Amino acid sequence: MEVKKIMAQLEAKHPGEKEYLQAVEEVLVSIEGVYNQHPEFEKAKIIERLVEPDRIFTFRVTWVDDKGEVQTNLGYRVQYNAALGAYKGGLRFHPAVNVSMLKFLGFEQIFKNSLTNLPLGGGKGGADFDPTGKSDAEIMRFCQAFMYELWRNIGADQDSPAGDVGVGGREIGYLYGAYKKLAREHSTGALTGKSYGWGGSLIRPEATGFGAIYYVERMVKQQNDKMEGKKIALSGFGNVAWGAATKATELGAKVVALSGPDGVCELPEGVNREMIDYMLVMRDSRRNKVQDMADKFPGKAIFTPGKKAWSVKCDIACPCAFQNEMSEEDAKQLIANGVKYVAEVSNMGCQPGAIAAFQAAGVPFAPGKAVNAGGVATSGLEICQNAGHINWTAPEVDAKLHKIMNDIYDMCVQYGKQADGSINYVNGANIAGFMRVANAMLAQGII
Ligand code: GLU
Repeated sequence: MEVKKIMAQLEAKHPGEKEYLQAVEEVLVSIEGVYNQHPEFEKAKIIERLVEPDRIFTFRVTWVDDKGEVQTNLGYRVQYNAALGAYKGGLRFHPAVNVSMLKFLGFEQIFKNSLTNLPLGGGKGGADFDPTGKSDAEIMRFCQAFMYELWRNIGADQDSPAGDVGVGGREIGYLYGAYKKLAREHSTGALTGKSYGWGGSLIRPEATGFGAIYYVERMVKQQNDKMEGKKIALSGFGNVAWGAATKATELGAKVVALSGPDGVCELPEGVNREMIDYMLVMRDSRRNKVQDMADKFPGKAIFTPGKKAWSVKCDIACPCAFQNEMSEEDAKQLIANGVKYVAEVSNMGCQPGAIAAFQAAGVPFAPGKAVNAGGVATSGLEICQNAGHINWTAPEVDAKLHKIMNDIYDMCVQYGKQADGSINYVNGANIAGFMRVANAMLAQGII
């Protein structure tokens, strides 16, 4: 396999699909050496098969807004790879959603799900629907219209969507209600991220953020350092940032920045319990403004419009919002400000130039597919509980999540250790994730 050759073919076949091509290239660069030591991979054309999704559904979603006007959006589900299990991955509702974005996310999902060591294939979906400023009734009608199309293609043993940007517990509730009515069965494993009481798992809302901080804790320990007193900058203030802020604060670190599309809130004393709770209120308001934090906690949260979280001096930087949200310039500013660790929590949150800058400066950098895998892992645990008709307690789920994150960390070290003893977490995650999928594909024949 030659990365350049494969990329040239893909660029010709999928022109303009920038995010998809970016995600594929990152993986290919990491695995090239290992891949070429396995002639059986080349013979079975594992890479040529893996980069193309099994199938993509595109559908029209028509709904009626509160003014009585008819609205039409585009919905998608990318069923990428099922070598390890039924397709699994979130649904994203955001105006920028398109095929390239969902293909990049679905591709990442294959490796992330593989890292969890659970039987999960990779998929992703969503719609170019913007939840900002929408009423509850509009969200419900949109979710119902979306499910009219999607329901036939999902199911616990077929494809199990969950939340992602713009899709949280409320949306999963509306989606599941519609699914249940259309499918005429209470098949709880068909969607994850359900609320506790009707099939949801305790700790699922916290899982992505908790898992990320469990991973960061290991990165810090690796350098014989400790979490206590560390200053952490997080971007976003949604579900993922909320879970990360909760766990980081519990471990004695100080969350000194949160950001939104409108700017950054600096928190010189760190976030406290009240602020963490207020993040949920801000998210539920669907205003999408971090300034609300400064208005609520004057003096404790200082808002600067137009700035990113990366302008705030910190020891640990964790992008938690959107892909490519950290540029090379942002990375250079963080390095100049003495950042010690960077862990992507958002999928592909850092631009390639940012990653290269951290690696060149010797700042440990871990990629989203490893750091944020706790979310989908806990979705896997939710499916297990649904299948067994049982509910685990919060400490039981948390302990399993913690173990999964520790195992992922260990695999990244095993596959990412370099000759000088340092760890390339990007290579580690990509190679470890790839090997499990490739071996499963080989075993299952040319299909
Ligand atoms: N959207 C989340 C992710 O990117 C969660 C997916 C899931 O739970 O299926 O991994």
